Amino acid sequence: MTKSIIIIGAGMGGLTAGIYGQKSGFDTKIYEMNHRPGGQCTSWKRGEYTFDACIHHLMGCAPNSKLNAFWREIGAMSAEFVKTKECVSVAASDGSLFYDYYDPDELEKHLLQLSPQDKDVIGEYVQGIRKASSFDLTGNMIMGDFLRILFHMPAVIGNMKWFKVSMAEFAERFKDPFLKKAFPLLVYSNPEVPVFLHLMRHASGLNGDIAWPIGASSAFADGIVKRYQELGGRIFLRSKVDKIITDNGRAVGIRLEDGREEFADIIISNADGRKTLLNLLGGNFMDDTLRSYCAEPDDLSEFAVTVYLGVNRDLTKEPSSMILLLDEPVTLGDQKFTSLEMQTYGYDPTMAPRGKGVIKVEFRSTYSFWKNLSADRSQYNEEKKKTAEKVIQLLENRFPGIADQVEAVDVSTLLTWERFMGGTHGFANGPNKEPDFISSMLSPRGMTVPGLENFYFTGIWTTGAGALFINALSGKKAIQKICKRNGMKFQS
Ligand SMILES: Cc1cc2nc3c(=O)[nH]c(=O)nc-3n(C[C@H](O)[C@H](O)[C@H](O)COP(=O)(O)OP(=O)(O)OC[C@H]3O[C@@H](n4cnc5c(N)ncnc54)[C@H](O)[C@@H]3O)c2cc1C
Repeated sequence: MTKSIIIIGAGMGGLTAGIYGQKSGFDTKIYEMNHRPGGQCTSWKRGEYTFDACIHHLMGCAPNSKLNAFWREIGAMSAEFVKTKECVSVAASDGSLFYDYYDPDELEKHLLQLSPQDKDVIGEYVQGIRKASSFDLTGNMIMGDFLRILFHMPAVIGNMKWFKVSMAEFAERFKDPFLKKAFPLLVYSNPEVPVFLHLMRHASGLNGDIAWPIGASSAFADGIVKRYQELGGRIFLRSKVDKIITDNGRAVGIRLEDGREEFADIIISNADGRKTLLNLLGGNFMDDTLRSYCAEPDDLSEFAVTVYLGVNRDLTKEPSSMILLLDEPVTLGDQKFTSLEMQTYGYDPTMAPRGKGVIKVEFRSTYSFWKNLSADRSQYNEEKKKTAEKVIQLLENRFPGIADQVEAVDVSTLLTWERFMGGTHGFANGPNKEPDFISSMLSPRGMTVPGLENFYFTGIWTTGAGALFINALSGKKAIQKICKRNGMKFQS
């Protein structure tokens, strides 16, 4: 008899589990609380504009990369892709503009023009990028091709020194004051990130492995949804799961918010780990490790607030992703900033009508600030409005006249993510443990919980890493485990 699987959540991990579940002969259904599938990989229409909440850097786009083969397997490559020339750029109010070009020759030339006195450090940077681009470390590690990693070991070892150097420390080596300010911000404005990770990302861009899906994040997720549905999978939207029904140490079904109950042989949760363990399972299946994972996440979060602007202005000539250095510190929400991080989307004609464009500005904030404000809805909305106005005012420096060109505005906070996708503190769905990037990539941990049969986790709770490919891959790994446990043949 065909075994049935209920999946809670249509994020990357849930959809992928559905796909491999269907392929391997299970009858699967996904229950999703939001009105659209895709989870955090989402975008939406606001009038004639498309606003995107997710993708900055999508890995696995080069046809010869390991990750690409996986993406194709799950239908994710149905969208059209475009590559940008630069990884990121930094602009100052005096008109200085640094493009962190993917192409090392172009980058070197550009950097030397900006600061000939920094010839040595520029040479070192460009050499690091060249070395990093000679191997597909991310793909090989994630897809488990250790032989290839060994083969490329000399090049990997050559770049290991960059693990110990943060972006901030590296920036100090520049003599030029503008580049000194720019370099610490290149990786999502986080100066503590090791240079190694930036070089890896850069190399992926150079190899064409990072690209943007035309039509934005939802177009990318739609390919996976389509593949799942073509295989006979069913997704029930606006279907929030309130409880996982257990019987004698076995997961047997779910109860939905409206009281309906559905039963299956196996239950998979792609939802936030804490809420699954503490609410859906009532805290009944925990050990000390899981309890420590469920501790309150940090109050301060990157990407906590996003201001989306649809503007009657041509942005096709603007850098794809830009950090704007501010002359004076400014307070947005409850934090002070000396720079503003934004994405413009001039490279994707579907984001706005011809001659118009979209700008997204993101910044960190605490969860508690917005949570406290939300006790009074009008205060919360007022703060969002004030924040958007301040951001528009700051953009005037780079885009004179923009205030009069704004035609659509959206502001999301961590509470917005929570409302649509039920996460903790927005999207902190992973375990509250120092993310161990390498080990989480090598072995997605804890897909099961102690004392409960027929229950599995997918998604960020199992990987601890906020990246589309690794959370999608967790769905495949869960079905591999389930097949093994049930003596079934896994079909990829
Ligand atoms: C701002 C931001 C930018 C990002 N940028 C990038 C990027 O550039 N590149 C990249 O690779 N990754 C990026 N990521 C990370 C990536 O989007 C996530 O790691 C990935 O989408 C998480 O997938 P997941 O499988 O963990 O599921 P999630 O996306 O968390 O999906 C979980 C699903 O479960 C549903 N759900 C939750 N509770 C219930 C319930 N009780 N009942 C029913 N359904 C429920 C939710 O609505 C959601 O659809 C970004 C993430 C964020 C937040």
